[in-house]
Amino acid sequence: YRLLPTLIGMMGAAYPELKRAEALISETLKLEEQRFKVTLERGLKILDEESGRVKNKILPGDVAFKLYDTFGFPLDLTQDALKAQGIAVDTAGFDKCMEEQKKTARAAWAGSGDTATEKVWFEILDEFGPTEFLGYKTESAEAKVIAIVEDGKRVEKLSAMGTGTVITNQTPFYGESGGQVGDEGRGEILGKGKYFTVIHTQKILGKLIGHHILNEEAAIEVGDTLSMNVDHKMRSAIRANHSVTHLMHEALRRVLGAHVAQKGSLQDADRTRFDISHPKAMTPEEIQKVEAMVNQEIGADTPVETRLMGLEEARETGAMALFGEKYDDEVRVVAMGRREGNRVFSIELCGGTHVKKTGEIGAFKIVSESALSSGVRRIEALTGDRVAAFKEEKAQQQAVAHGRVKAENDKLRAEMASLGGAVSKEIPTDTAEMEKENKKLQKEISDLRRQKATQSVDASGDVKDIGGMKFTGKVLAGFPPKDLKPMADDLKKKLGSGVIVLVATDEGKASIVVAVTDDLTGRVSAVDLVKIGAEALGGKGGGGRPDMAQAGGPNPNAANDAVGAIEKALAG
Ligand SMILES: [Zn+2]
Repeated sequence: YRLLPTLIGMMGAAYPELKRAEALISETLKLEEQRFKVTLERGLKILDEESGRVKNKILPGDVAFKLYDTFGFPLDLTQDALKAQGIAVDTAGFDKCMEEQKKTARAAWAGSGDTATEKVWFEILDEFGPTEFLGYKTESAEAKVIAIVEDGKRVEKLSAMGTGTVITNQTPFYGESGGQVGDEGRGEILGKGKYFTVIHTQKILGKLIGHHILNEEAAIEVGDTLSMNVDHKMRSAIRANHSVTHLMHEALRRVLGAHVAQKGSLQDADRTRFDISHPKAMTPEEIQKVEAMVNQEIGADTPVETRLMGLEEARETGAMALFGEKYDDEVRVVAMGRREGNRVFSIELCGGTHVKKTGEIGAFKIVSESALSSGVRRIEALTGDRVAAFKEEKAQQQAVAHGRVKAENDKLRAEMASLGGAVSKEIPTDTAEMEKENKKLQKEISDLRRQKATQSVDASGDVKDIGGMKFTGKVLAGFPPKDLKPMADDLKKKLGSGVIVLVATDEGKASIVVAVTDDLTGRVSAVDLVKIGAEALGGKGGGGRPDMAQAGGPNPNAANDAVGAIEKALAG
């Protein structure tokens, strides 16, 4: 990517687009380079493992293909890397895998495209031209039926209770395109007093607006006049969710940098989804800044201006166009936000439907930010009433989480007190602080309990001499099994030399740890001894090292028998 300025210096005059997109290109190249380095390292590691398994000095073709397909590791790189070790690649096997994958991809593609239906749409477009979209200004209009398509074929009428796509000369319904979902609504067949439902609206071949209709009471015929009414509530929500992407796009560029470019978007009545090129996760501060900037524009409640102009004229206004997108000669320029000197906050080319004033968006909140793919982030956001509802739900979740942490805190504090330990008088109010205290208390309780248990070995004087070795065995009711090993270590130090057996019992299960000091591991093994103990507890196996081993069993009542069995084994 360091070569880029040189390239732009040489070619920039002939291709002004290069200069305009310099930040984005640079960022993309840098990412690709980093990604390639990671790919290379990961691929080499896998290759290293695989070459260890190679027979007859030939790497199987499917392995080379997996490296290529899953890890993006090119075949020639694999060959070069293996040449040094005198290993060849089964290229015929590789080609076969590649061919199979292509076949699968082709089959999937053939299933999705329906060329016969495509032909029908081209015919309709040739015959009648593009559908006139009235929805920028109105949500209701009368329209004449010019074509009906049912099951991929042109028909003269759509029967009552039938479903099909109806094309009219004009329509207030927005056809799904540019990330904004299509409108839904109701209609009436004029003169017949019968109704139908528009369940979805789609842009077809970029020019026709197809109403997917669920017909109800009477046939719709070519030539009929329809009254078409967009679902206002839904349209308003979509409009707000779409409009806010303009403000969000600009705010993201200002907060994150000019390399931010739109990679895709989807706006429906519920939320808006916006994908951007950005190499890393947004920080909470960056998210907050973007939210504040957008909400400021919403609060300013300035009118949204839409103008039709020539593409070159639009470029001169500084309107943001999508890099690599194809535009008609006449474009729709949407300006939104407060005036800043001789321009406004956001100017974009866009064919979507927009609010009249930014205040109609109501409110804006980013609810999630995540990685979509390498170098692309996906942002999901809400507008209007949904922001308040989201905040309320979040507060409720937080209250529940706090309750849970508080209950744990109460329990730990009581436990600490019962062990005679000290707790701070001040109880934290913040959930995160309280969680921290809980962790600290858990550790303190476990240390204190272990200390007490270790001390009790001395006090009761239950260190015996068995076969010339010091031995202590202890059954600890309700003791956490995970603390057995640290306690055994404590006792090893205390005894200096000897064998230690600890059994923690709880309802329905027992855990046993055997520790042997290093000077005695030549005579007895903790692993052998723990197996004897586990058997007494009704368990099997156990594992560890000669100086420390652990096992368990389902019979806590046999804890003393387990200690006894080990003692007996030691006595020989
Ligand atoms: Zn727009």
